[in-house]
Amino acid sequence: MKFPRHAKALFSALVCSCAAMPPQPPSVRGLPPDDHSAPFSAVWIGHATVLMRFGTHTILADPNLASRMFMLSRLTLASLDEREMPPIDAVILSHMHFDHFDARTVRSLGPRPVVIYPTEGQSYADEILQTDQRPLANWETTEIDGIKITAVPARHQGGRYGFDFIWNHAYTGYVIEGAGKRIYFAGDTGWDAEMFKEIGERFPGIDLAFIPIAPARGDSVERRDPWGHVGPHLALRIFEAIGAKEMVPIHYEAFFTTAGHLGDARRALRDAVLEAGENDRVLAIQVGERVVLPFEGAPRIFGEHTAQRSTDRPPPTGADAIRPVAAPSK
Ligand SMILES: [Zn+2]
Ligand SMILES: [Zn+2]
Repeated sequence: MKFPRHAKALFSALVCSCAAMPPQPPSVRGLPPDDHSAPFSAVWIGHATVLMRFGTHTILADPNLASRMFMLSRLTLASLDEREMPPIDAVILSHMHFDHFDARTVRSLGPRPVVIYPTEGQSYADEILQTDQRPLANWETTEIDGIKITAVPARHQGGRYGFDFIWNHAYTGYVIEGAGKRIYFAGDTGWDAEMFKEIGERFPGIDLAFIPIAPARGDSVERRDPWGHVGPHLALRIFEAIGAKEMVPIHYEAFFTTAGHLGDARRALRDAVLEAGENDRVLAIQVGERVVLPFEGAPRIFGEHTAQRSTDRPPPTGADAIRPVAAPSK
């Protein structure tokens, strides 16, 4: 009997994950310090979960703090638990897959946040208890306290449970604009040259782009992942096509990697980044670290290190603070 390739891939992911060691702790546990005089900062909580601050407002992208997904144990635990989460003004869901939309995490945020999702996500909205829900179609914008959130196209699969992608097409990316900054959050997407070019044309001068880099079963224009993912090479093509100034890679070191081993995706990213000569502009932060964008000048990265030092000296600034893309030591 011949199994389809994606069935074999899922099987090997399950086996690899179940056989793996217990999840690694995040590099930074809890909230790292912030520079509140800066207009924007973002903490990579892990996988595609990003806590963004625009001025005094908070937006949480693709919330998932769970330590496992079905039988899959996380490779690295989320950097925050529910009690450590600050009050959230808006949640943005790129799509309804479990790794991007953990209903328990969303519920834990209480009634306060506005919850934004792609239009066909309404089919799964009964799992969302917050009352202010705003489904967005491609290029549609909603505003929350002066922060503009626009749904932008992505290439992925819809549905929530696997089989329902056949009739459900809920998936999107977002451009979020506020406090003088323009941020792109890709969610989960495959490659499409025209689509990303159009996003870049409609939103010139994106300051920071969160782009997935795994899982990569096919990472070139000729050989793409049939399920709508990109690896590091195509992630860098997205970065280039949309014309963003800086990129933070996401969607790795938690639920899926190339072959189920922690470190593979980061190593593949390092090779692709060095090949492309983009070492200065790709901020491969560690789980739990914070990127801070000042009004002008280079981004800064705050982590555990800076948390310890922040009591006696100001956090590092400028290029010294930027951690170049590096493979983990093991
Ligand atoms: Zn997905
Ligand atoms: Zn995903």
